[in-house]
Amino acid sequence: MASRVARLQRVLESEKLDGLVVSGAANLRYLCGYTGSNGMMVVTRTRATFFTDFRYQEQIRTEVRGCAKRVLERDLYASFPVEAAKRLRRLGVEQDHLSVARLRLIRKQVRGPRLVAVRDIVRELRRTKEPAEVRLIERAQQVTDRVFAAVLGMVEPGVSEKDIALEIECRFRQAGEVAFPSIVASGPNSAKPHAGYSTRRLRRGDALTLDIGCRLSGYCSDMTRTVFVGRPCDDLRQMYEAVLEAQRRSLAAVRPGATARAVDAACRDYLTGLGFGHYFRHSTGHGVGIEVHELPGLAGTSMHVLQPGDVVTVEPGVYVPGLGGIRIEDMVLVTKTGCRNLTKSPKRMLVL
Ligand code: ZN
Ligand code: ZN
Repeated sequence: MASRVARLQRVLESEKLDGLVVSGAANLRYLCGYTGSNGMMVVTRTRATFFTDFRYQEQIRTEVRGCAKRVLERDLYASFPVEAAKRLRRLGVEQDHLSVARLRLIRKQVRGPRLVAVRDIVRELRRTKEPAEVRLIERAQQVTDRVFAAVLGMVEPGVSEKDIALEIECRFRQAGEVAFPSIVASGPNSAKPHAGYSTRRLRRGDALTLDIGCRLSGYCSDMTRTVFVGRPCDDLRQMYEAVLEAQRRSLAAVRPGATARAVDAACRDYLTGLGFGHYFRHSTGHGVGIEVHELPGLAGTSMHVLQPGDVVTVEPGVYVPGLGGIRIEDMVLVTKTGCRNLTKSPKRMLVL
């Protein structure tokens, strides 16, 4: 934890900030280990102090490491620790995590430093995974692979999307937590990239998309597979083969130094060439870690360049309204020479 704070302090220097108020829950977890709901950190170039209220006093004794700890009133921003910000000229606040009301509260009490809205400073640090973080992500993915294999046995006509989703989430909770609301989308529902699940019952010939992930020890997994309930029509088969090959191409493009754009283009150009470009509108992937969606984003507009330690998903999809959708998503670690796929679930077409 202390080394993460030290990295942040070096960034403060290069960003010409004298300090940063850390408000985002995932950022707090990363910097000091805190998992509660009410927390804040003030990190200056020489000090790091964590603040919470009395309810977490006991919890932080062992949980929070690598910084000083203090207990404030329940509203941490109404009782903002002004002395922590004394003698600073430029104090950063996280624009994506600090409400306008809380910004006003800080402004009212802190005289002196100029408040500077910053983006992504801690998220950028979180992007590069340490070996121990990679192991946790891998473990979360191992559970996901196991749960996927187990619920395939349930897939048959008459079973509802909800039955399958609840089984998946129950199994995830036995091992850890559900990382995000599961997508279990069948037939026409599978044509909606962010479908969720419904009470619709599976029918023969359906595409069935499962986009699922769990969280173990604070780290997430994220995987998508589309399987078929009985033999699919030729259109769905063609779509499946197209998405599988598109994903293979993007995976082959993942290596240090590759631009996020190039990885995105590798699958998108292929699908566009087959006439599916219009049916693939979302980005190709995203980083995964403490949060399901982290840096770097793999999109046509992304400016990121991949580097060792990135963990990213590669998840092209094709969605045809009324017919169905196919998406295949793996999570890979960018290594020194290329990438290592952390997802072990099979990708060949599964007709159940
Ligand atoms: Zn996913
Ligand atoms: Zn994803």
